[in-house]
Amino acid sequence: LPDDSNLGPAQHGQVISRYGQHADIEDESGNLIRCDLRRTIGSLVAGDKIIWRENLTGGDSQGVVEAVQERSSVLTRPDFYDGVKPVAANIEQVVILSSIKPELSLQIIDRYLVAVETMGAEPVVVINKSDLLPEAEKQKIDQELQYYRDIGYQVHWLSVKAEEGIELIHQILKNRISIVVGQSGVGKSSLVNQLLPDTDAAVGDIDTIGLGTHTTTVARLYHLSHGGDLIDSPGVREFALWHLSAEQIFDGFIEFAQYSARCKFRDCKHLEDPGCGLRKAVEAGQVKPHRLEHYHKILQSVVENKPAYKLDI
Ligand code: GDP
Repeated sequence: LPDDSNLGPAQHGQVISRYGQHADIEDESGNLIRCDLRRTIGSLVAGDKIIWRENLTGGDSQGVVEAVQERSSVLTRPDFYDGVKPVAANIEQVVILSSIKPELSLQIIDRYLVAVETMGAEPVVVINKSDLLPEAEKQKIDQELQYYRDIGYQVHWLSVKAEEGIELIHQILKNRISIVVGQSGVGKSSLVNQLLPDTDAAVGDIDTIGLGTHTTTVARLYHLSHGGDLIDSPGVREFALWHLSAEQIFDGFIEFAQYSARCKFRDCKHLEDPGCGLRKAVEAGQVKPHRLEHYHKILQSVVENKPAYKLDI
């Protein structure tokens, strides 16, 4: 690394992508700059806000990343050596993409909602392939989904194929950093291709500044033409529930707390316990039975089995 006298003043920037001991960062004017990293920099991922300095000597590396600023959220994945490894930072919104073919799974949606709540981002549920359903059936499913709107979530229909609902997606993605997640086959590639038509984000990575091709697995931040940013990579799309505590899973069911406050016992498991406020709420029709059922299923699979790796959701 160049010594201090060869470095310009400290500036703000944001990580577009990180490759080994380098990172492509963007300065405040929107220029892409290839930087080296100080040894003291721990983890650095797409979306990180940083302090960097220009390398005045020229050469391969145009700058040096000096420090990473505190993250508002972090997306992690399990790592064999480190337990968990950050993949992307400062994500504000997660588009949970589902589709009605193969069959819509509320359990999978609930799992994603828990994971997104835990990471500290805002979830938006988007149901793709609406073109495959007659209106009447769509209405029926929509009624089931209404519960999620009632507890405060956004739920939208989309057909990437018929280009219905895309405008709304553009609006949702505006002014924030988002990611798109979902099971295989729901239409993530199709949607990302639609959102980033000028890049080959969906198939691999781009070599923006001519310094060689990068692996396709690295998360990258893209500016969307209608506003907002999208962080994407195969790893980001496969985001799931990893190491969550029982408390995090409970908190991920955001409507539960108001009812569990009325449980007779403080250590109520919300199963057969007498005086369970949550079960009463289910019986009274305030909480959908499937939510409590999914809570128990997720708790069982995540906490009791303690999987070291990705859960098959
Ligand atoms: P991914 O695995 O989530 O990335 O899903 P893909 O984008 O690869 O899509 C899986 C399949 O669903 C492909 O055959 C797409 O053409 C199809 N598909 C994606 N969006 C739609 C849609 O809105 N309607 C219909 N009918 N098919 C779609």
